[in-house]
Amino acid sequence: MIIELKNVEDANKVMEQANAKKLEHVFQHNNRVGFVDQNALGDVPFEIDNVEQVITEHPAAIQASRLFHPENTVIKTEHSVIGDGGFALIAGPDSIESAEHVLLMGKDVQESGATLLRGGSFKPRTNPYSFQGLGEEGLKWHREAADKLGMDMVTEIMDTRDLEMIDKYTDMFQIGTRNMQNFALLKAVGKTNKPVVLKRGMSATIDDLLNASEYIAAGGNHQIILMERGIRTFDNKYTRNTFDVSAIPVLKDLTHYPVIGDPSHAAGVTKFVEPIGLAAAAAGADGLMVEIHNHPKEAFVDGKQALTPAQFDHLAKVATDIHNLVKEEK
Ligand code: PEP
Repeated sequence: MIIELKNVEDANKVMEQANAKKLEHVFQHNNRVGFVDQNALGDVPFEIDNVEQVITEHPAAIQASRLFHPENTVIKTEHSVIGDGGFALIAGPDSIESAEHVLLMGKDVQESGATLLRGGSFKPRTNPYSFQGLGEEGLKWHREAADKLGMDMVTEIMDTRDLEMIDKYTDMFQIGTRNMQNFALLKAVGKTNKPVVLKRGMSATIDDLLNASEYIAAGGNHQIILMERGIRTFDNKYTRNTFDVSAIPVLKDLTHYPVIGDPSHAAGVTKFVEPIGLAAAAAGADGLMVEIHNHPKEAFVDGKQALTPAQFDHLAKVATDIHNLVKEEK
C-alpha cells in the first residue's frame, strides 16, 4: 500500500511510527510512504493523520513504481545525463580489445554524440572456450580512453568477487541479461553509489525486471537505468532476439527510472540494428546503447551485430531527431 500524506513532515512522522514499531520494508519518498505486505490484509497497524490519498494498487516493485515516486529519476555522471528528457547515447565496442582500439572507437562515438563509452572486459560467453574478455588490463585501457576523451565508462560485472576491482575503474556498472536475476550481484551493486544499467533478462517479464531493480534499490542505490535488449520468443530465426518495443512505453509508465534500448543484442545482425534503434527512440526510450567496430569482421566478439562508426553516426542523428520530434508532439 502507498499512502500520500499532506506534506513531507507528515510522511516523516509516519516513518517514525513505523520505525518505533520495527516494521520492515517501509519506504519514504517525499510525502509518500510505501508499505510492503504488512499483513495479509495490507493494513497498516497504526493510525495515520493528514492522509491525502491511499493508493491501494500493488505495484510489482514498490520503490521502482511511479505510484511511489511520480517524478522521473535523472541519472547524472560527470559527462552524461540520462532521463532528463534528452537522448543519451552509450556506444563502443562489444569487448575491449586493446588500448588503441578502445580509444579510437571512443573518439568515433564521441564525435557522433555519445557521452558514455561501453566495452566489456568480463564477457558472458555461451561457449566457455571462446574469448572471455581481458579482465583488469581491459578495464585500465577502457578507463584511460574515457579519461583522455572526457567520457564516462560503463562495463559489465558478472561476479561479486570482481566488484572492488571494477569499482576502481568504472563510472557505471552494467548487469547483463544473463545476470538479471543474480540476486547476490544485484545486492552487491545496490550497496555501491554508482549508477547501474540493468538489462532485461532474455526470458524475463517486465515485473521480473522491476523486481530485479528492487534488489538494487533495497540496498540504497536508486541510480538505476533499465534496458530492453530483446527477449527470446518463438521466432528468433532472423534476429538474435525479439526487441520488445512495447516494453519501453510500458516501463516508462510503470516506473520513474530511465529506459534505454539496446538494438545491437536484439538484432544480432548489423542491418537490423538501425531500424530497431529508431523504433526504440520512437517508443520513448531515453537513449540507446549500441555496439560499434571499425572492422566488424575482425571483432573479438559479436562482429555480426556491430555498426561501423559511420553507420552509428547515422543512427545517432536520426534517432535523436525522432526522439526530439516525439517529445515536441507530446
Ligand atoms: C553486452 O552488452 O555486452 C552484452 C553481453 O549484452 P547482453 O547482456 O544483453 O547479452
